[in-house]
Amino acid sequence: MSATERAEEAQTLRALIEAFRPPACPIGVDAATRRAVEFLAAFRATGSPRADLLDTSLTVLGTLLAGTGGGRERVRRRLSAVDSSLPALRDLARFAQRLATVVIYATLDEAGRPLAAQAVGYEVFEDRPRGRVAVAASEPRLPRDAVVGPSEAIPDEIYDVVVVGSGAAGSVLAERLTARGRTVALIEAGDYVPERYDGAAADRPRPHDELDNLLRYYKDAGLQPTAGDCRMVVLQGQCVGGSSVINNAVCFRMPDHLRAEWAGEFGAAWAAGRALDDAYDRIAAELRIAPVTAAVPDGWINPSARFLASGAKTLGAEGLLHACSVNIEACLGCGYCNLACAYVRKRTVLQTMLPSAAATGRLRVFAGRRAREIVVRTTAYRAEGVVVEPTRGGTGRQTIRGRRVVVAAGAVGSSALLGRTTALAPLELPIGERFSFNFVSPVHADYEAPVRAFDGLQMGHYCVENLPRDGFVIETWFSPPATQSLALPGWGDELQANLERYAHYACASPLIGSSAGSKVDARFSPEQIWIRLGRQDLDRLKRGLTRTCELFFASTPSPRRALINTLRDWSLTPDTYRRRIADLDSFGDIQISTAHPQGGNCLSADARGVVRPDFRVHHTRDLYVVDASVFPTSLGVNPHWTVMAMADVAAGHVADD
Ligand SMILES: Cc1cc2nc3c(=O)[nH]c(=O)nc-3n(C[C@H](O)[C@H](O)[C@H](O)COP(=O)(O)OP(=O)(O)OC[C@H]3O[C@@H](n4cnc5c(N)ncnc54)[C@H](O)[C@@H]3O)c2cc1C
Ligand code: SF4
Repeated sequence: MSATERAEEAQTLRALIEAFRPPACPIGVDAATRRAVEFLAAFRATGSPRADLLDTSLTVLGTLLAGTGGGRERVRRRLSAVDSSLPALRDLARFAQRLATVVIYATLDEAGRPLAAQAVGYEVFEDRPRGRVAVAASEPRLPRDAVVGPSEAIPDEIYDVVVVGSGAAGSVLAERLTARGRTVALIEAGDYVPERYDGAAADRPRPHDELDNLLRYYKDAGLQPTAGDCRMVVLQGQCVGGSSVINNAVCFRMPDHLRAEWAGEFGAAWAAGRALDDAYDRIAAELRIAPVTAAVPDGWINPSARFLASGAKTLGAEGLLHACSVNIEACLGCGYCNLACAYVRKRTVLQTMLPSAAATGRLRVFAGRRAREIVVRTTAYRAEGVVVEPTRGGTGRQTIRGRRVVVAAGAVGSSALLGRTTALAPLELPIGERFSFNFVSPVHADYEAPVRAFDGLQMGHYCVENLPRDGFVIETWFSPPATQSLALPGWGDELQANLERYAHYACASPLIGSSAGSKVDARFSPEQIWIRLGRQDLDRLKRGLTRTCELFFASTPSPRRALINTLRDWSLTPDTYRRRIADLDSFGDIQISTAHPQGGNCLSADARGVVRPDFRVHHTRDLYVVDASVFPTSLGVNPHWTVMAMADVAAGHVADD
């Protein structure tokens, strides 16, 4: 990007920030613009192939704003005209608003405080009484010689197993395989960033810095987009430890009806058998999975649950709300779980599987290296290694050789890698098909008195509604303001007014397991995620939203209103919510998102399968896929415990002992 282009981009960002910044906001236009420019530069430096898309969007926005002279009112009028035009332009205007709002609320002052966020009632944990005295627990660090950085030489070795992706699945595989005496090369596109915050000089960003944590721990800094039936972001981790590091640590077993379906319809006998139960138990013991009420000793859990429980009681459904099981211990309730846990209270794979694998001396983690393609000998379709390149760019491609290769790069990443491997093309496997996901669309209930839902563990309670048939679960959730702003509706002043009520909201979301009609298309670079949803997906969402509103409106005290994240008519009352939600007729009108992508490399004994029930890629040798991408259907509940238990089962097949 030339200096002129950079200057133009900064001008566009400034115009957007000026347009969407509330006039009394304590963060100035200059400071927020500087932060936006820094964020973009850091985003490009991550090597994300989506950075170009962001640049293009900003260039188009710059063109649309040409001639306004950058004045606040003129820019707002122009953007409002864009917002009322074609859907694609409206998406762009909304994106501009989201970006500017996130930057404004995430900009820190010199003392490290998000002043705009504080102005709407937020307090960073350091300023809350228990936060002032909080100390981080100790964290096991991977030994220096177990981690090979992107600029270090790749040793000339042949590993027993090369695993691509160090997330929930990849880390379990690394632990199980090294424990069985195998040498393992673990390739990870993200960096090794310990979670513990040791002060400003450390590699890890400040615990509450939303933008820097997105850059450090998330794939595409949280901006991985979709196309097709709905525009949404697909959130995934990109760091050693993968999504396990930034997830909410909520643990569910796979519902029984799906275990039967995977075994009966897809040939995955292990899913219905004792082997999976035993694997769940082993993982539970290692992660010390326990009810959230035990994991958070002082009870600092998102208080949204109180309102849902009160509503359930009024409706005669006392006991509807349950405490989640979590892999967390001695939680302080800072509310930063999606920014990794700087206080080291989550028991992620960084605290468990990876140190234990490294302690055997048989693990090498190749961090900051993206797998480009798998080396497959075409005569026998035998996998022999993986070609890697530094994620952030720089020196060329190299090969890490192994006797077996396991792809555990997560949903999206694994399909993209298999799709890029041209040697597999003649096999005509349905790579990328049957992609599915659990999606959410939060409901905010606005109470007269402050709720301070940010002051506690983000996600602590759930209820289940009719799950085996066409149901859903409802889960509480709350985030610091910049991230939370993405779940709030409204255009211009409306969004600002909604954000001003930040401290008064309780929040919960129906979580819907989508149908499996979407696709990861690896013919594009970067891969594209095409979303196709059906009537049943929309109907489930509508039932989920209706039930969530019903529970909130039945609570004591009752909220002034409930907000759903639609483009229009988003403010609901007890008299209007049923009709308004019933009127939703497409995903174009409501914002959804997912942090639980699944499928794309379906596990099935028949032609729907990319992998066989024993996780080996059909018609190949020594090539396996083990991660959320092999799920034949979406789970409809949070998947990571199942991903890990499945990896435990799969390790036996990969080790072949
Ligand atoms: C914000 C958030 C909250 C969540 N909350 C929960 C929760 O509370 N409970 C729950 O059960 N689940 C939760 N999840 C989902 C859960 O974490 C995932 O389902 C699970 O981690 C998937 O495991 P995986 O091994 O398939 O992929 P991941 O854990 O995503 O790991 C894949 C890894 O592969 C790496 N990779 C990808 N492509 C390449 C490549 N080409 N080369 C090298 N490396 C590559 C990635 O960088 C990543 O580290 C959450 C997810 C997110 C993002
Ligand atoms: S609330 Fe989340 S991030 Fe904070 S200490 Fe507890 S587990 Fe860690």
